[in-house]
Amino acid sequence: MVREAFCDLHIHTNYSDGEYPPREVVRRAARAGLSVIAITDHDNILGIDEAIEEGEAIGISVLPGVELSAEDNGNDIHILGYLFDHRNGQLKETLEFFRAERLKRAKTILEKLRELGVFLDIEEVLEEAGHGAVGRPHIAHVLIKKGYVATVREAFESYLGYESPAYVPKFKMTVKDAIDLIKKAGGIPVIAHPGISAPPHKVLEFIGLGLLGIEVWHPEHDEDTIAFYSRVADEHGLVKTGGSDYHGEQKGRANLGTIKLPYAIVRDLLALKEKLGVS
Ligand SMILES: [Zn+2]
Ligand SMILES: [Zn+2]
Repeated sequence: MVREAFCDLHIHTNYSDGEYPPREVVRRAARAGLSVIAITDHDNILGIDEAIEEGEAIGISVLPGVELSAEDNGNDIHILGYLFDHRNGQLKETLEFFRAERLKRAKTILEKLRELGVFLDIEEVLEEAGHGAVGRPHIAHVLIKKGYVATVREAFESYLGYESPAYVPKFKMTVKDAIDLIKKAGGIPVIAHPGISAPPHKVLEFIGLGLLGIEVWHPEHDEDTIAFYSRVADEHGLVKTGGSDYHGEQKGRANLGTIKLPYAIVRDLLALKEKLGVS
C-alpha cells in the first residue's frame, strides 16, 4: 500500500524562537505523519544541516527554508524562502550581519537601562536567547528574573516598548531586499501568512517586487482567506505553500500534524525551482 506523503513547510526550531533543537523537531514531524518538512527559522539557516542529517537518518525529507523579517512602513513582513543553497556565501553573510546588528542593539538597550538604574548582564541576555537572534523578549525575561518587573508586558511598557525610555529601533531589511536575497541564493521567495500581516493591496505590491509564492495555508488563515489567496496565487502564476508555523508544544501555537498538505505542494516548488534554472 502506498502511503500518501504529507508536508508542512513552516516550522521553527530553537535556532530561532522554537522550543526544540532541529533533530528533535524532525523526529516529532515524522511521528506526526509528515514525509516532507521545511525548517524555516527566523533570519537563521544554521539549523538546516542538522535537520537534513536527522531526516536522512529516519527517512523524512527536509527542505532548506528560512523566514526573513522585513519591514514595510513600520509593519513587520515575513518572507519565507525555500530551496535556496543554504551554504550560499551572501545569504550567510547577510544573516550574520543582521545577527551582529541585533547584538549591538541589545547592548545599546542595556546601556540605556543602566542609565535608568537597571543593571543587566549581556551574558544573561544571550543565555536567554540561546541559538535564537537576541531581541527584546529575552531582555524582558531577564528583567523579570532580576525582579525589576513582574511581566513581559510591564517590561515593554516601562522600558523596552516604542516610546519607552530604553527603546532602540531595530535595523531591518526591506521586503525587496528579502526577496532579492532569497532569489540570489537560488531560492523561492514566498510571503508568509499574508492574512495576518498585510492587506491584499500590499500583497499585490509585494508580488510586483518579485515574490514567487504565497503561503496560503496557515493556522491563522480562515477558509475565506485560504480561498482568497489561493485565487490570487493562481491569477499571478505563483506557487502556493503552507505550514503549521510550529514553535513547540509550550508556545500556545499550532502543533505538528495540524496542517498536513498534499505532496503536490512540494512538487510545484521543485518544478518552479527547476524552471528558474538553478539547482
Ligand atoms: Zn511569521
Ligand atoms: Zn514562522
